[in-house]
Amino acid sequence: MLSNLAARDVETLVHPYTNLATFRETGPLVLERGHGVWVYDTDGRPYLEGMAGLWCTALGYSNEELVAAATEQLSRLPFAHLFSGRSHDPAIELAEALKELMPVPTSKVFFTSSGSEANDTQVKLAWYMNNALGRPRKKKIIARQRGYHGVTVVTASMTGLPANHADWDLPLPGFLHTACPHHYRFAEPGETEEAFSSRLADELEALILREDPETVAAFVAEPVMGAGGAITPPAGYFAKVQAVLDRYDIRFIADEVICGFGRLGTWFGSEALDMRPDTISFAKAVTSGYMPLGGVSIDEPLYEALLAESRKLGTFGHGTTYSGHPVACAVALKTLEIYRRDRIVEGVAGKAPLFQARLAQLRGHPLVGEARGLGLIGGIEIVADRASKAQFDPKAGVAARCVAFAQAEGLIVRFLAGDRIAVCPPLVIQPDEIDTLFDRLARALDRTAAWIAAEGLE
Ligand code: PMP
Repeated sequence: MLSNLAARDVETLVHPYTNLATFRETGPLVLERGHGVWVYDTDGRPYLEGMAGLWCTALGYSNEELVAAATEQLSRLPFAHLFSGRSHDPAIELAEALKELMPVPTSKVFFTSSGSEANDTQVKLAWYMNNALGRPRKKKIIARQRGYHGVTVVTASMTGLPANHADWDLPLPGFLHTACPHHYRFAEPGETEEAFSSRLADELEALILREDPETVAAFVAEPVMGAGGAITPPAGYFAKVQAVLDRYDIRFIADEVICGFGRLGTWFGSEALDMRPDTISFAKAVTSGYMPLGGVSIDEPLYEALLAESRKLGTFGHGTTYSGHPVACAVALKTLEIYRRDRIVEGVAGKAPLFQARLAQLRGHPLVGEARGLGLIGGIEIVADRASKAQFDPKAGVAARCVAFAQAEGLIVRFLAGDRIAVCPPLVIQPDEIDTLFDRLARALDRTAAWIAAEGLE
C-alpha cells in the first residue's frame, strides 16, 4: 500500500530515469530532510546517502553556511542576469575564483544551470570557433560508449548509452562513439591495462582517420565515467589518447561534472589522471548541489575567436535566463571557500585509501566481478560467474534488486546499466561512516545472493 503522498506522486509526476512501469507498483522513496551524510524519509527513517544525491552534495546535507549564503543573496538581489553586458558581484567573484582553480589555461568562464547545458555549450562553442577560424568542415564530436554527458538533443547524442538513444531518434549525425575504456569488461584475455589503453588509442586514431581529421572538432571524456558505470580508466589511457588528439588538432573537452571539485582527491579529475584538456565542463559539486549551476572554461584561443565573430556579427548569440544566477553563484562562492578553508580536497585524498580498501574487500564476494574506484568513487559489477565474467539476464534486474536491499539496510547507492552499482558519498563522509556504508553494502550483496538462490537465477 502506498502512502498518501506516494500515491499522489504516482498520479502526478513523470520521474526522470525511472522505469515508469515498475514505478507504478513500487512508488517513490519520499525524502523529507537531511543532516550530514544522512537523509530521512517521511517516516523519519535514516539512510546513509552513498551517492551524494546525484554525485553532487559534496558538503553533505545541513551546511548552514551555504544556507546563509543563499539567504543573504536572496534578500539582497534574488535575480540579475548577464545579458547585454549586465552583471553582478557574485558572478564576477565566482568567475575569478574558478579561473584560478581551473586545471586548464582559462581566460574566461561561461555559466550555465546544469551539466547538460555546459556540455551543450561546449559543442556549440567548438562549432562556432571552427567557423570563426575558417574551417567549417571541422564539426564532428567524438565521445565514448558508456560516456555520460547529459540529455539535451546534443548532449544525449554525446552520451553513449542505449537508453538515451533508442526511440529518441539519436544520436544526431556527426556524433561518434569510440570504445569504452573498461579493462575488466572489454580487455582481451591477458591484455595488460597499458596494452588495452594502446589498443583503444589506436582505435580512436583509426576512427579519426576514417572520418577525416579535417572533419573532427572535439573529443569529450569524463575522467572517471560516472553514469555509464563508475568506470576507472586503465593505466596510461589518457596520455595515449592525448597524443592522438594532439596529432589532429582536436579539441579535448574534459567533462568534470562529477570529478570536479575534489571527488578524486585532486581539485579536478584531469589532474589525477594525466589529462591535458583544452576546456572543462563543471556543475554539481561547484555548489555542493545546493543550487543548480554549471559552466565551461573558455581558453584564450577560443575567446579570441568569439571576439572576432562578435566584431563581424555583433551579438554573441548564446545564453540562458539563469546563466550565472546570482543565488547559485553566491552559494558556489561559499562552497569553494569552504573547500579551501576546511581542506576538503586534501581530506578526500586522506580518506580515499580507507574507502578504496573497503571497496576492494567486496572483491571477495561471490557476486562481485569487479570492485574498483578512485578517490571517493567506486564501481561494482555484479556477475553470475566470476571465472567467465558471465552476466545475469538484464531482465532479472539483479543490480536494481541489490540497490533495493541496500535501501532496506538504510543505504542509498545507485544501479547502472550492465548490473553495475555506483558508490559516491559526500566528500565530508567520516571514516566510521565509510565503514557503515560498506558494511551495509556487503549485507545488501548477501541478501541479493540469497534472493538469486531463492529465485533459481544461478
Ligand atoms: N556530465 C556528467 C559527467 C554527468 O555526470 C552529468 C549528470 N549526471 C551530466 C554531464 C549532466 O548534468 P545535468 O544532469 O546537470 O544536466
